[in-house]
Amino acid sequence: MLIPHTMNDLRDGADLMPANGHDGQPTGHGQPPVDLLTAGWAEVQARLGEVALPKWRWQQVQQAIWRQGVQHISDLTTWPKALRAKLAEVAFLARPQISQQQVSQDGTIKWLLRLADGQEVECVFIPESDRGTLCVSSQVGCTLNCRFCHTGTQNLVRNLTAAEILGQVLLAKDVLGDWPADRPDRRLTNIVFMGMGEPLYNYDQVSAAVRRLLQEDGLNFSKRRVTLSTAGVVPMIARVGEELGISLAVSLHAARDVVRDEIVPLNRKYNIAELLAACRAYPSDRFRRITFEYVMLDGVNDSLEDARRLIGLLHKIPAKINLIPFNPWPGTNYRCSPPERIEEFADILWAAGLSAPIRTPRGSDILAACGQLKSASEKLRRSVTKKAEIEQVAE
Ligand code: SAH
Repeated sequence: MLIPHTMNDLRDGADLMPANGHDGQPTGHGQPPVDLLTAGWAEVQARLGEVALPKWRWQQVQQAIWRQGVQHISDLTTWPKALRAKLAEVAFLARPQISQQQVSQDGTIKWLLRLADGQEVECVFIPESDRGTLCVSSQVGCTLNCRFCHTGTQNLVRNLTAAEILGQVLLAKDVLGDWPADRPDRRLTNIVFMGMGEPLYNYDQVSAAVRRLLQEDGLNFSKRRVTLSTAGVVPMIARVGEELGISLAVSLHAARDVVRDEIVPLNRKYNIAELLAACRAYPSDRFRRITFEYVMLDGVNDSLEDARRLIGLLHKIPAKINLIPFNPWPGTNYRCSPPERIEEFADILWAAGLSAPIRTPRGSDILAACGQLKSASEKLRRSVTKKAEIEQVAE
């Protein structure tokens, strides 16, 4: 389903009023307003000058933003109106704008989000019976060029800021009606950095966002329920373990360097042995396993010999292997492995004691499944008209 926004509507700017009326213009003090999602107390106090901001008042703002989901400074009802007005002069609270919202037949929701500078990223909510997972983007575009990934066909435009990453989570909670944050029937229970971009090429902003997600008096996600997925930026992996301690997913996708060099070009920089050494050193145990993503590409990485090699490679790593049927996109030359082959591949891994679930593609009717995220809506629209072609590739 495509909610009736077209790119032309957007270009006309008809519904592009900046969130909360914030226009990014310098304030009376000559400095641009600070973003309340990432600014600290001292910074905001300094901006307020003479107007005192006691710590407890600041805590009220934090409560309102992260526990109650307040979207506008004017709705900070625990504050006197005059103080809200002062705050609004020096700071802003904003959400990304929704350019498009698509709802898949399976309940998956994909948002194309428009950031303050007009760039667009995608964000996907995947409901399951026992959890609700939000897949967030960390960059506009990507530098990696993984051959089978749709996002990889788009150049990197820029890194997202921590506030823009957090904005995706807040917006999803708004749309899902998932406030207050501590409600017992939370809909959004897990966050995965598996959207557009390579999170470890934007570590500073990603780690700042993660810290905020984990904050106990805020959104209070458990470390286990926040997963960072990397194509294998080896030197950064240890830092994730030490500094964040969240769940790790690694896009392995091949059991031999010759194959991985081709489909995940980053492998030419950090090969499989180096990558797995970093994984071995990552804090994990049988309750906190590393997820290895393995996209099933017909005739490329799906031989039974590859499956057997994987067993050897993952020896002594508490691992779970997610076998992802390749999600085709218009223009790709890859095909998904036949279902029987995926089953056989999985059976070999299970027989060796490895857990190797075959993932069911979610949201593929709206191009929201793994690797299909691409912000250029033009292409998205074109892809809808190319549906027949997609179906052909999927056969
Ligand atoms: N850059 C990060 C996160 C983004 S991609 C990473 O590489 O891990 C999230 C996952 O989807 C990765 O495992 C990626 O390799 C996989 N993926 C990309 N394109 C895909 C496709 N067309 N079909 C199935 N999985 C895909």
